[in-house]
Amino acid sequence: MILEHVDVLVIGAGPSGAVAASILHQNGVKLKVVEQAHFPRFVIGESLIPRCMDHFDEAGFVEEVAAKGFEKKFGARFLRGDDVCWFDFSQKFSEGWDWTWQLPRAEFDKTLTDILQRRGVDIAFGTTVEQVVFNGTDSLTTVHDDRGNRREIHARFVIDCSGYGRVLPRLLNLDAPSSFPPMAATFVHVTDKRRPQGGEGTLITFDVLDQKVWFWVIPFSDGRSSLGLVCPKEHLEMIDQGSPAATFQHIIQQSDYYRQRFDGLEFLFEPKQVVSYAKAVKKLYGDGFALTGNSAEFLDPVFSSGVCFATESGALAAKLAVKQLNGLKVDWEHEYEEHMLWGVDVFRSYIRDWYSGDLQKFFFHKKVNEDVKRKVCSVLAGYVWDKENPFVKKHDRAVRAVTHLLPEDSC
Ligand code: FAD
Repeated sequence: MILEHVDVLVIGAGPSGAVAASILHQNGVKLKVVEQAHFPRFVIGESLIPRCMDHFDEAGFVEEVAAKGFEKKFGARFLRGDDVCWFDFSQKFSEGWDWTWQLPRAEFDKTLTDILQRRGVDIAFGTTVEQVVFNGTDSLTTVHDDRGNRREIHARFVIDCSGYGRVLPRLLNLDAPSSFPPMAATFVHVTDKRRPQGGEGTLITFDVLDQKVWFWVIPFSDGRSSLGLVCPKEHLEMIDQGSPAATFQHIIQQSDYYRQRFDGLEFLFEPKQVVSYAKAVKKLYGDGFALTGNSAEFLDPVFSSGVCFATESGALAAKLAVKQLNGLKVDWEHEYEEHMLWGVDVFRSYIRDWYSGDLQKFFFHKKVNEDVKRKVCSVLAGYVWDKENPFVKKHDRAVRAVTHLLPEDSC
């Protein structure tokens, strides 16, 4: 069997793997990326948040991605019946980017890997990790390609960016139960033929159909839009119309705001359905490896935090791996796991407060406190490590404290 030697093996070439690979490459590390799929490939996660831009900038991606003309996202709109709440990222409390992109991930992820390959990063597509055996911090990974050819890769460090493939959590028994109840989602792309002109046509929107049920509309710059529904698992079972397509047509009828725009449009693929998508792990690192992105934790799509967590962890894991390879001591518990879990915990509080109705009460209140809104806006932009923001620092109780003071009758 062929044996290769690298300093770092990156498993998976989604946003987490791409950012990690770029930072490793910038630091002169000998690396290899193995990716099971051939790109472009479909993956969900099309609404980014501004904090990701810091990572794309650090990875040197922004200019070349911008040239692709993906739709820019300057904020997010939430609807509930006639109530509207608009968060403008330029009004956020924290320093940082005030825009990002909303984009089809197939094209975006391919753009990132194309950039990496042009810079000389070794990416093996159609290559699946089967087994990883650790010996101290060194490891031997067995992979096979599409033709069934096997090879072994010896690495001094592994960064697992395999998303829902969850390679190391599976192989090392690191999976842990998620703290959230099982949710479900169904989503599809359409050619947005009745898209209105101007801002309304391209605005990313979350339409609250019920306290725990919301519908997303993510317009892309190429005229397609992504539509999706998120709800408790039992709700999706309850509204089942016999096929994913019939169920999705039924869902479109539930949105007063979007019914006319999307009614009867042809789906560009059979609507996909996922259930119990929240994931957690016992540890985010171990001797010779770090878990990033969805391979580590995924909470819920409502605040579009998934790709941000993927790129924050990919960038940090790569920088710490470089430090360790340079012979410096890395305190993975403090420098990696505690940092990442802080961000996860902030989003966990906001997601909990969203589904409990507290955050919705704040969003749709007639007399919204603009100062509080700027601080919540920072969280929605992904600046969840800015502890100057009391709505980050006291994330566990800040939203509840504010909403419990709001008078009911003016909602
Ligand atoms: P991925 O993007 O999943 O990349 C992992 C890669 O690893 C894949 O290309 C895969 O082929 C490869 N791989 C897997 N197994 C192996 C193996 N054995 N060997 C080699 N390669 C392997 N996030 C947002 O930010 N915004 C959103 O709007 C959003 N919407 C979502 C909606 C839903 C319904 C769900 C469920 C999630 C959503 N997310 C969203 C989350 C988002 O999908 C993920 O957080 C994000 O894609 C994670 O990126 P990643 O790089 O960790 O993994």
